[in-house]
Amino acid sequence: MTVQTNTTAQIPSALPFNGQRGGGLLSPEQIALWHQLLTEARHIVITCHRGPDGDAIGSTTALASWLRRRLPEADIRIVAPTIFPDFLKWVPGAEDILIYEKHEDEVRPIVEAADLIIMCDHGELKRMWTLGDVIRPMLPIGGGEPGKVRCIMLDHHIDPEEGVADLVISHPNLSSTCEVLLRVILETQSLPSGRGESYAQPERSEALPLTGERGEGLLLPSEATCLYTGMMTDTGAFTYASNRPEIFELISILLRCGIDKDKIYRNVFFTYSPNRMKLMGYMLYTKLDVWKKAHTAIMTFTNAERRRFGVLNGDTEGLVNLPLQILGMKLSIFLREDTEHPCIRVSLRSVDDFPCNEMAAEFFGGGGHKNAAGGEVWGTMDDALTIAKKAVQKYMTQLKE
Ligand code: 5GP
Ligand code: MN
Repeated sequence: MTVQTNTTAQIPSALPFNGQRGGGLLSPEQIALWHQLLTEARHIVITCHRGPDGDAIGSTTALASWLRRRLPEADIRIVAPTIFPDFLKWVPGAEDILIYEKHEDEVRPIVEAADLIIMCDHGELKRMWTLGDVIRPMLPIGGGEPGKVRCIMLDHHIDPEEGVADLVISHPNLSSTCEVLLRVILETQSLPSGRGESYAQPERSEALPLTGERGEGLLLPSEATCLYTGMMTDTGAFTYASNRPEIFELISILLRCGIDKDKIYRNVFFTYSPNRMKLMGYMLYTKLDVWKKAHTAIMTFTNAERRRFGVLNGDTEGLVNLPLQILGMKLSIFLREDTEHPCIRVSLRSVDDFPCNEMAAEFFGGGGHKNAAGGEVWGTMDDALTIAKKAVQKYMTQLKE
């Protein structure tokens, strides 16, 4: 059997992708613009939202590595607005992420030198906090000279901010930004770019996801690992937002690229310190409040408790999911004092059709996905509790059902 080297037409049809345009995610115009923006760029800054999660870290690191192999002349940096949790430190390439909030003076000139910003895993500049304030004036929407700094958005949140990006690739129906990125990579992989030979040529002939025994050439195992991490974390290890069969088609590609998915799972989820384990027991035993009628559970977590258990930033990740293991629970609310700012961070998780993102937007100035959303309350824990009660009241009919 001969191996076809140009799989442009094959990739989408080989996989039952049901993108909005019947096959792929991208229109031909978007593919052309993707190539154009990338090949014209010399200083690329890849960003994500504040409080980066697995999807933010996974998509930015995968993209940076993948682009560096294709655009050897370009300077490519990842800039995160704030620190990210320790359980993501092992992600390949995470060690190169610049943290804006920690090293403002050094990082700001790097951001300001960018001629292309690629926003990953968020659709609004304000989700980058102070980093967003640096980027906004660089773009036409903030008064920047049109065409000078270009912007690509890769995301899966609803309502992307208008007028920010030249190319918006935003698909709320997809599990994660990592899934969006993987599909973009598949769909743009072997197309001629017109300009910037270096982008289209390297490894072009090996760029076959389904031919090389282990998918060599499409993605490095490290890149595939980053992408799987984001898909896995944004779906609670494929327990929500993951019923579309294509997700598993994509995972099979990542497996062929050499990921060890069992190890990735352990790297992300089995990283508790003894104190973190004890904290879980403490939270469930003493802090869990179940509002039975509303099928809602709520927990609060203060900085005093954080100190008592000696837990680090990120150690509270996942606690919000636990109450959904109670029979009949529809909504879990987790309120925690921010370590760096005078606000309460809100995490919402739900099952089935309960729209956490609508509640987050309406009551907590946030957003997210149907089953996993977040926001914040600039006030005390009592303020946050009062708002949470109001929110549950408002949605009582849906929660009671
Ligand atoms: P977490 O509870 O893990 O912090 O957030 C869950 C999801 O909600 C995230 O994947 C993110 O998409 C979304 N989210 C969290 N905080 C915010 C926020 O302040 N604004 C918006 N728009 N989305 C958020
Ligand atoms: Mn995400």
